[in-house]
Amino acid sequence: MFRTTRASAVLALLTVLLGVAVAVACGKEGSPPSKGPAADKLPNYEVAQGFQLPESPTWTRAKKRGYLIVGVKEDQPYLGEKDPATGAYSGFDIEIARMMSASLGFDPQTIRFRTIASANRETALQNGQIDFYVGTYTINANRRKLVGFAGPYYMAGQSLLVRADENDIHGPQDLDGKRVCSVTGSTPYQRIKEDFPKAVLVAYDTYSVCVDNLLTYQVDAVTTDDAILIGYAAKLPDELKVVGKPFSEEPYGIGVPHGDNALRFALDDALEAREKNGDWKKAYEATLGLSGVPAPTPPPIDRYPAGS
Ligand code: GLU
Repeated sequence: MFRTTRASAVLALLTVLLGVAVAVACGKEGSPPSKGPAADKLPNYEVAQGFQLPESPTWTRAKKRGYLIVGVKEDQPYLGEKDPATGAYSGFDIEIARMMSASLGFDPQTIRFRTIASANRETALQNGQIDFYVGTYTINANRRKLVGFAGPYYMAGQSLLVRADENDIHGPQDLDGKRVCSVTGSTPYQRIKEDFPKAVLVAYDTYSVCVDNLLTYQVDAVTTDDAILIGYAAKLPDELKVVGKPFSEEPYGIGVPHGDNALRFALDDALEAREKNGDWKKAYEATLGLSGVPAPTPPPIDRYPAGS
């Protein structure tokens, strides 16, 4: 009896998911999908003419190449999403990458985006696979030993996503014995492991796989930043909800190769300028803001000195 109910619930959810996929795909034809990034409201970022940054090895290499290569996520609604049909990327992080590109003198249309999972960000920056990384990347002391960070440009906080009919989980204190999914190499994974050891931690490479596991009753909760979880919940409001209050601070930075302080400071300047001229807010409102949270005041830039 229980099995049948469960199986039909899973089937119903998959049908809903398929419906969403079809609706999103159809949205491309005419008006933008009601809950996707509002393409028509996105700012046009003016490309800085004659911009030079010869002190930055990363910028110099990109200049020779003619375009930037930026690491991002592809499965995070409103933040970094790749349209499977067109291959086009959209979301708040993507907009941050585009405005940074314009400020560094590169036409944002020419950026090559590369999807890089949380666990591979530092290596990708160290190997020169990407010029910089914009994808819900928390600035912290451990990572700063391996890479540099411009920003922060947004402040998120760790939270929990559960099925809409879940009544027992209200915060991380309720996770004892529960199956909780997060992503390898992420700060939320690490926090559950250290601070809530009685939770049964399940790890994958991406949050969308965690969400699939939640919808099919393989896990009881997904944990990561509220900004990410709110996006998934907004896409499936009848199936998913975010519960409790954020229980950490996750300042999002732009990851740059370690030691390229010229690039880091140029990105700090660019972020400050885009926050001042309104581009940051416009980009937020056309992307992450669509998940229902009004534009916050961006956190102050932490221009930490070279060598620290
Ligand atoms: N902001 C957290 C982190 O950088 C979680 C999101 C992510 O995995 O990108 O680890």
